[in-house]
Amino acid sequence: MEIHHCENPVCRFVTRHAVPDTCPLCGGAFFLPSDGSDLVAADWVALGIESKTDGRFDDAFSDFEKAAAEGDAAGQCMLGLAYETGEGVAQSWPDAVLLYRAAAGQGHAQAQCNLGWCYEFGKGVPQDAKAAARWYGEAALQHDPRAECCLAICYTNGTGVAADSVRAAQLYTLSAQAGFVPAMRNLAQMIHLGRGTAKNDEAALAWYQKAAAQDDARALFMCGQFYEKGFGVESNAPLAADFYLRAARQGYAPAQACYAICLEYGRGVPANPTEAVQWYTRAARQGDTQAQFALAVCCEQGTGTPQSWGDAIRWYSMAAAQELPQALLNLGLCYERGAGVRRNPEEALHLYRRAARLGLPAAENRIGALYERGDGVEQSWPTATAHYRRAAEANYAPAQCNLGWCYEYGQGVPEDLTLAAAWYGKSAAQGFARAQCCLGWCYEFGKGVELDEARAVELYRAAAEQGLPRAQCCLGYCTEKGIGTEADPAAAAEWYRRSAEGGYSRGMYNYACCFENGTGVKKDLPLAQQWYERAAKEGLPDAMYELGVWYEDGRCGPKDAAQALAWYKKAAEAGHDRARKAVERMEKLV
Ligand SMILES: [Zn+2]
Repeated sequence: MEIHHCENPVCRFVTRHAVPDTCPLCGGAFFLPSDGSDLVAADWVALGIESKTDGRFDDAFSDFEKAAAEGDAAGQCMLGLAYETGEGVAQSWPDAVLLYRAAAGQGHAQAQCNLGWCYEFGKGVPQDAKAAARWYGEAALQHDPRAECCLAICYTNGTGVAADSVRAAQLYTLSAQAGFVPAMRNLAQMIHLGRGTAKNDEAALAWYQKAAAQDDARALFMCGQFYEKGFGVESNAPLAADFYLRAARQGYAPAQACYAICLEYGRGVPANPTEAVQWYTRAARQGDTQAQFALAVCCEQGTGTPQSWGDAIRWYSMAAAQELPQALLNLGLCYERGAGVRRNPEEALHLYRRAARLGLPAAENRIGALYERGDGVEQSWPTATAHYRRAAEANYAPAQCNLGWCYEYGQGVPEDLTLAAAWYGKSAAQGFARAQCCLGWCYEFGKGVELDEARAVELYRAAAEQGLPRAQCCLGYCTEKGIGTEADPAAAAEWYRRSAEGGYSRGMYNYACCFENGTGVKKDLPLAQQWYERAAKEGLPDAMYELGVWYEDGRCGPKDAAQALAWYKKAAEAGHDRARKAVERMEKLV
């Protein structure tokens, strides 16, 4: 390719491209061909950069080589870069360092910065943090923006220099003001954290936005975070989702994960679980542990993708391998329940222990439950309560409830109703339904607290409205009998219905009584019998006995002594005293 240069002797425009109509440097219209003999080092550098931009790396290398041979610092630096990247020549760190050092010695800022980087990461030279900071410093004195940013990082981390966040913030500011995008981001972070400078979220966001305007993926992501959380700006879910999407499209995994969350829960965008799963998958494949976990949950629950235990286990395992506590816990639950894997409580315990060590109280609570049941371990109430206590003291509501129960029944700890009610209270205050119900029981009967029926009803109602069948039954009973609230048989029957349909045997029994007596509902003996039967099948001795009575008396259909005796016997086996007497009476008759 032929070289032309501008005819104007003070203009250094030179090109291998077709000559333009007018010189872009001086506006002249005449160009002369050149065989190279009349070119100076700067011309070769300009030609090399043109070649490199065109992707003709061999030409670029030989152009830079000519400039470097004349001792030109820019030529040496560009030739060093060719050795660093292996463009037009075999990659060689030692050659790159040699050339950077020659240029740096001549005061070439970019070469000084590159040499500093080689020292920082031990490329072509032994790693030397002090030498790195020194060379960054030389370049920063010349206001090289990249060097200012690199030196700021040294001051932030205290590598090669004494840590000095004020100096770091100053250097980031200089670099950012010169338009260096990574410095804008780092400066924004320091302003957000109030490190080395006053905390000011508005100013932090302004820098992120400046970097985001250049389509920097991390800055776009951070803008999303600021708009989502309302840092320095009114929170704005649609704008946050839009920032996440722009960063996600560039393949930035944390943004893909956050955008997926927006789609899954319809935050700032219409909910679209299918698309959410697609973005989770992209982030998960890049190793984003939060995305792997979220994806596992989608696979487990069949949200936005067909339910698949296999996929759920696979993604939980990947996140668990990165020690994500929540993933260790959920994978443990799969092993404990035998969901998607062969049931293995020992493996569950192992996973829970790893999660517990990472400070996850829910895992401590599960360990306690395994010891309570003796599942995969030797049963031990003291060990169970020790784990419940650890999780309870970390304010984990289910564990507070479990510990309260241990105190109520003196399991693993001395019985202490006051402590029981206190732990139930902490858990109930967090809205945990089971504890609300247990505490309601304490108030209804004055166990560990002063008797207060109205408070009992209030607590039962809170738990009942959360759908806890036992609480629905207790509330039904108070409402039926007018305990702590005005009697209202119809409302009572309705609570019994919800409890019964929730599978609670006492609720079924009480609901059956309503139909038997026409309390709050229309009297209906066949329905009453059906609910007694369901309660009996759930193992409630009272219901078994009641069925015995019904068959013996023929309350709903013909008398049936054999059926009656069978139900009495079942109830008696379950420890029902009147049933035992009924069995004796019937057997005497025979
Ligand atoms: Zn010119």
